[in-house]
Amino acid sequence: MTQFNWDDLQRELTRWHSDGLQATFWWRDDDVTADSAELRQLLGLADRAAVPLALAVIPALVDNELVQVLDRFPNVTVLQHGYRHQSHSPAGEKKAEFGEHRNSAELLADLTAGRDLLRAKFGDRFVPVLVPPWNRYTPKLVPLLQQAGLVGLSAMWARTIHGDAPLQVNTHIDPVAWREDRDFAGLSLVLEQLICHLKLRREFEKYRDEPTGLLTHHLDHTPAVWDFCAQLIERLSASEQVRWVSSREIWLNRPKAAS
Ligand SMILES: [Zn+2]
Repeated sequence: MTQFNWDDLQRELTRWHSDGLQATFWWRDDDVTADSAELRQLLGLADRAAVPLALAVIPALVDNELVQVLDRFPNVTVLQHGYRHQSHSPAGEKKAEFGEHRNSAELLADLTAGRDLLRAKFGDRFVPVLVPPWNRYTPKLVPLLQQAGLVGLSAMWARTIHGDAPLQVNTHIDPVAWREDRDFAGLSLVLEQLICHLKLRREFEKYRDEPTGLLTHHLDHTPAVWDFCAQLIERLSASEQVRWVSSREIWLNRPKAAS
């Protein structure tokens, strides 16, 4: 099995540079509801590195204190992490809040209620993009997003929607070994995720403009996961081939395609 290390990442970034391309990255953290020591650690990491951070906030569970905590962090935006982060799947099936077992009216009601809550609490900090809990959704959700005033969708792995209404920008790097011990998934495996997405973008134009996304879960990080995140962010930020983009730039202030 091929092992990946930091040199492989640098080699891939050098290929981007040789092709005259700049590798864009973005950062999403999930399951945000309230202030905590872990949230402060996350915000501190983003702030020190001057990297934009998108928090996927669960609308129905937001603690009001969170609004004040974020005041000091202008680089932090809020996305909509479902409505209540509650699974409606039958027992024994994979968890999903926006899965196929609910009808369109139920899905739309949750979308609009969540959007209203986040807009009222976070104002302009809220970028109207749905992050479906467990990164799962039924295809019938997609046309409902626009009806609910949402401009985008963010799940996991390579995008499946290639138009821009809604614009799908996923995450592609997950440092947590969820199905094992929930500790760090290992440098080689996580760098493989990262390098594979960069390579996909470099080789296939239809994937190119989707920034490569780091997914974190601040409440679930072990020290090894925090260490990796800090190191990754530091290394990427130090690279001339890399540019971090905010969720505002991705979904609201999209540069027009060159004509
Ligand atoms: Zn979640």
